[in-house]
Amino acid sequence: MAGEPQSDCVFCKIVAGEIPATVLRRTERVLAFRDIAPKAPVHVLVIPHVHYPNAAALGAAEPEVAGELLAEAGAVARDEGIEDYRLIFNTGAGAGQTVFHAHVHVLGGMPMNESMV
Ligand code: 5GP
Ligand code: ZN
Repeated sequence: MAGEPQSDCVFCKIVAGEIPATVLRRTERVLAFRDIAPKAPVHVLVIPHVHYPNAAALGAAEPEVAGELLAEAGAVARDEGIEDYRLIFNTGAGAGQTVFHAHVHVLGGMPMNESMV
C-alpha cells in the first residue's frame, strides 16, 4: 500500500533505524541525513518517513508532507550555514534516480554557477 514501509527499501530502513545514518534533523514526518557519497561539501538528503516512489507521487498523495520536506530542506541549509544551494529531485532511472523512496538532495557549499536550466 502506498505510504507503507517497503522491506527492500534502504531509506525505509534508515527511517526505522535499521541502517545507520548521520541524521541532522528529524520531525514526526521527515528525516534529514548526510548522503553516504557526497557530491558537494554540503550534501544532505531529506526524505519523508512514508514510502512513495518519488517526490511527485508524495506531493500528489500527501501534499502537507511534501511541503514539510521543502521547509526542512531550507532548515538544513540554514543549519549548515549556506544561503546558496540546489534542491534536486531525480525522478526515474533515466534521470539518475537510484533509490525509489521520495527524497530531495540539498547540495551546496561550493560554487555551482553551471546549470542545465
Ligand atoms: P538518487 O540517485 O536516487 O537521486 O539519490 C540517492 C542517493 O542516496 C545517492 O546520492 C546515494 O549516495 C545515497 N545513498 C544510497 N544509499 C545510501 C545509504 O545507505 N546511506 C546514505 N546516507 N545515503 C545513501
Ligand atoms: Zn522506502
